[in-house]
Amino acid sequence: MDNCIFCKIAAGQIPAKLIHEDDELMAFHDINPAAPVHVLIVPRAHIPTLSDCTPAHAALLSKMMLLAPKLAGELGCGVEVRGGERTGGFKTLFNTGPDGGQEVYHLHLHVIGGPKPWRGQR
Ligand code: AMP
Ligand code: ZN
Repeated sequence: MDNCIFCKIAAGQIPAKLIHEDDELMAFHDINPAAPVHVLIVPRAHIPTLSDCTPAHAALLSKMMLLAPKLAGELGCGVEVRGGERTGGFKTLFNTGPDGGQEVYHLHLHVIGGPKPWRGQR
């Protein structure tokens, strides 16, 4: 799509700090992080919002969700069990539409984590 910043990143027309790429998805660091770890998981295909998804997108959405804990673990904010207690963790967030706080109308999943005290900012 013309004038879509994430399509331009997918096309290599503008740079991003990529941490994952495959045939369907890319992931990169958010340019304005809300926490020590803040990455976006973004499909290459231009889908404007979560509300535009249909059952045809189920596999893609599942792939996005399953990539989140993998990347969180690689970035040091995955959930670990130590002495029977869980530590670490991250938030996953789809902002959808104007009242949902969406600014970029190309589907993306925020993965937000890292040590407190960032918690609760979004
Ligand atoms: P949302 O409000 O869910 O649409 O969030 C869009 C996110 O994209 C914001 O957190 C922005 O900081 C981020 N963003 C915008 N442009 C870029 C960019 N060129 N590279 C990385 N992240 C970006
Ligand atoms: Zn796009």
